[in-house]
Amino acid sequence: MNTPLSNIDTDKISTNALKVVKRLQDKGYQAYLVGGCIRDLLVGKSPKDFDVATDAHPEEVRDLFRNSRIVGKRFRIVHVRFGREIVEVTTFRGPHDEQYDENHSDSGMTLSDNVYGSFEEDVFRRDFAMNAVYYQPQTKEIIDLAKGVNDISAAKIKTIGEPESRLREDPVRMLRAVRFQAKLQFELEDELSNSIASLGYLVQDVSPARLFEEVLKLFMSGNGAAAFDHLMELDLYGWLFPDSRRSMEGNATSALVKLALESTDRRIADDMPVTPAFIYAAMFWYPFVEEKERLQEAGATQVEASHEAANNIISKQQLFTSVPRRFTGPMRDIWFLQFRLPNRFGQKPDILIQHKRFRAAYDFLLLRELAGEKTGDLGAWWTEYQEADDERRSAMKQSSGQKRRRKRNRKKRPRKNPNEGMFWQP
Ligand code: ATP
Ligand code: MG
Repeated sequence: MNTPLSNIDTDKISTNALKVVKRLQDKGYQAYLVGGCIRDLLVGKSPKDFDVATDAHPEEVRDLFRNSRIVGKRFRIVHVRFGREIVEVTTFRGPHDEQYDENHSDSGMTLSDNVYGSFEEDVFRRDFAMNAVYYQPQTKEIIDLAKGVNDISAAKIKTIGEPESRLREDPVRMLRAVRFQAKLQFELEDELSNSIASLGYLVQDVSPARLFEEVLKLFMSGNGAAAFDHLMELDLYGWLFPDSRRSMEGNATSALVKLALESTDRRIADDMPVTPAFIYAAMFWYPFVEEKERLQEAGATQVEASHEAANNIISKQQLFTSVPRRFTGPMRDIWFLQFRLPNRFGQKPDILIQHKRFRAAYDFLLLRELAGEKTGDLGAWWTEYQEADDERRSAMKQSSGQKRRRKRNRKKRPRKNPNEGMFWQP
């Protein structure tokens, strides 16, 4: 049952996580490090966080650590906080009684997962064998009942048990598989990838809030471009972002999303700030533009159409993955600024450059151009403008001012029903 310690670099283990394990053991409980941290240590990476599994119940854990609280409904765990670090402590879980219907939706999904169990049961409720390797820091033993160490050394992702039923139980496991595939450059075993390719629609049963959390992990952990490729290969992308997927048929959406993710990955590698607003802006730029044009054709002004199109596109996406307000605001700013960047006469460039989202909008413009959009070298103009001195700046403004066409005094057409012809009615 026990495998002698192979290649775990104990210096990479958080001292706080060790403290938690020790305290639990001193009080007579079982406690192990498990999951991503052990998997990452075995492939030589530094884990980003540590998970502890124990037979102590959440309340018992909470009572042992001053700086702790119970979180989660579907899955009650204890967060033990040490400054900025959080050690997650999970009570061993057992199998669910399949006869109790209230614990399963029609598609076989587990709705509540707070049935405690034994150590052995805890091993087999985990998603992938590579995530079910336990480590006992005191004795330095690895406990590997699911044969996860083999998978880790073969760079393989396998579910514990039969993929289809494990994915039905919790469809988020499909997204987790993709995330690990991208992060670790592991391969999915064939049966797993086939099952994902045919069961993708099940992610629709997952709450939009939980899906948003997973999307963040997929796209904002430094391997977003690879995760995107895998989501496409496995036909999952369209179940998460239907409008974005549809607009890949006739637009440069796919190129734009890939570029935005590559840029985010690079920024993460360079420790620069990143925001999901930028990626969401890229995923829905063309759906937004199409919707805006449709509303303008129906008689809306440019400003009205922009606002309404943004509302329509964003609120529809909220049905699939929620997008918190703190991200939809910046997303709109990035979009709306795209229509202001071409206006380069008078005071406009200097006002625009002061906008708090100018830099993001400018970066976005460059990506649109890289994705193949024709903007009349607008990006190059703005690049030069930002670097130019005052004299050069006023010359640049003049030359773009000369090109300015007189605003046509177009009569506003009467407005038709703005939702007419729309695939989805808000
Ligand atoms: P990361 O590197 O992102 O932290 P992780 O594998 O540690 O990866 P967590 O979300 O921290 O992922 O979960 C910790 C462990 O809990 C996993 O390794 C796995 O054993 C188990 N687990 C998490 N989510 C699920 C799930 N949806 N189904 C089954 N087991 C899960
Ligand atoms: Mg973890």
